[in-house]
Amino acid sequence: MLPHIPEEHAITMGEGNTPLYHLARCARATGVERLFAKHQGMNPTASFKDTGMTFAASSAHQRGFRWVACASTGNTSASMAAYAARGDMLSLVLIPDGKISWGKLSQSLDYGALTCQLRTDFDGCVKILNELVRQKPVYLLNSVNPYRIEGQKTAAIELLEQLEWEAPDHIIVPGGNLGNSSAIGKALLEMLELKLISRLPKLSIIQAEGANPFYRCVHEFGGSKLVPMTADTLATAIRIGNPASWKKALRVLRATGGEVEQVSEVEIAEAKAEIGADGIGCEPASAVTLAGLKKLRARGFVKPGEMVVLILTGHLLKDPDFTIKFHRGDLFAENQASSSVPISGAPTAGTPDERRVTRAKSLQRAPVVLDADLGAVIAALDGAETTP
Ligand SMILES: *Cc1c(COP(=O)(O)O)cnc(C)c1O
Repeated sequence: MLPHIPEEHAITMGEGNTPLYHLARCARATGVERLFAKHQGMNPTASFKDTGMTFAASSAHQRGFRWVACASTGNTSASMAAYAARGDMLSLVLIPDGKISWGKLSQSLDYGALTCQLRTDFDGCVKILNELVRQKPVYLLNSVNPYRIEGQKTAAIELLEQLEWEAPDHIIVPGGNLGNSSAIGKALLEMLELKLISRLPKLSIIQAEGANPFYRCVHEFGGSKLVPMTADTLATAIRIGNPASWKKALRVLRATGGEVEQVSEVEIAEAKAEIGADGIGCEPASAVTLAGLKKLRARGFVKPGEMVVLILTGHLLKDPDFTIKFHRGDLFAENQASSSVPISGAPTAGTPDERRVTRAKSLQRAPVVLDADLGAVIAALDGAETTP
C-alpha cells in the first residue's frame, strides 16, 4: 500500500506504531463510551508529519537532491529538518514571522535547517516557495508532495490493525492544509478495496472558526468552490486560509459520508484541557477533534453507541505557551489585547462562548505559589479536595 524506496535511500527514525488510547473521562462527558485517541504526536518529532516525511525525504535522497524545502506552520519544518539531517541533506524552512510556537521553531533550529521567518502568513510562504523551486534545484516537501500523502496513510492502516480490522464508526481529524484528511481517507478507501475492512468509517474534518475555508466550501458553496481567506486562530498548526488539498479532502469526505464542523477558540481550549485531564497531552490543533465531536453529537450525527477515534496530530509540548496561558486564565485576555485583528471565534461579552469561558475556568489548574511551609502545602491539598 506504500511506495517502494530502495533500502539504501530509506531515512527512518522509527516513526509510526503510535498508541491508541481510550479516553475515559471524555467518553463520559460526550456520552460516547467507545471513544479513542490515536496519538500521532508520539512520533519522533512529535507530530504526524513524520509518517509522511520519512517517505518524502527518502525520495529526495533517492533523486540525489542536496536541498529540501518546505513552507510550514511549524510541524512540517520540524519534521523535515530532522529527516534532512538524518539523510545528510540541507533544508530550507519558510515559516511565518510570529504566530508559530517556540517548540516547533526550536526544533528546526536545532536540526540545522536554514530557517527563514517571512513577514507574511503560511499562505504567503507557500507562494514564495512555489516560485523558488522553479528557479533552484530544491526538492519541495510540502504536503502536495505525493510521498507525504502516501506515508500519512499509515495512521489509518495502523489504526485498523490495532482494532483488529473492525472499522470504527467515525474517525475525526483536524483540517488545515487538508493533506492529513486526504491521506487517511485514501487509506480507508484502499483498505476497503483490498477487503481488509468490510465497511468505511465516516471521516469527519474539523476546522477552527477563524480558519474555516473548507467548512465554508462545503456548507456555503456545496463543495463547488473554495474561497481563500486570511486565517487566524491560536491553533497555529491549522492557521491556513488556502488549503492545497481541498479537492482531495472533499472527495474522501463524500466517499465516506463524513461531516465538516467548525469550532470556536474557547471550544478548542476547553477540549484540549479535557483531553489533558484524561492524561493525554496534545496541541491545540489536535483538540479541535474533541470539540468537533461534541458538536457532531449534539446534531445527532454521532450516536452514543458508536465507536469514535480522534486523530491527535501533535504533542502537548509543541506549544506549552498556549497551555500555560489557558491554565493561568490569560489566554483570551492577552490575545485580545495584543492582537490588532480580534481572533475570530474568541469570546465576546454576552455570547454563549462567554458562558463557555466560565465552564472552561473549572478546568484551569494554575500553579499555586506558596511559601516553603508544610502547613501552606497541606492547606492547598485540603482545599483542592473540596473543589470539584
Ligand atoms: C499539520 C498539522 C495539522 C493539519 O494537517 P493538514 O494535513 O494540514 O490538514 C493539524 N494538526 C497538527 C498538529 C499539525 O501539525
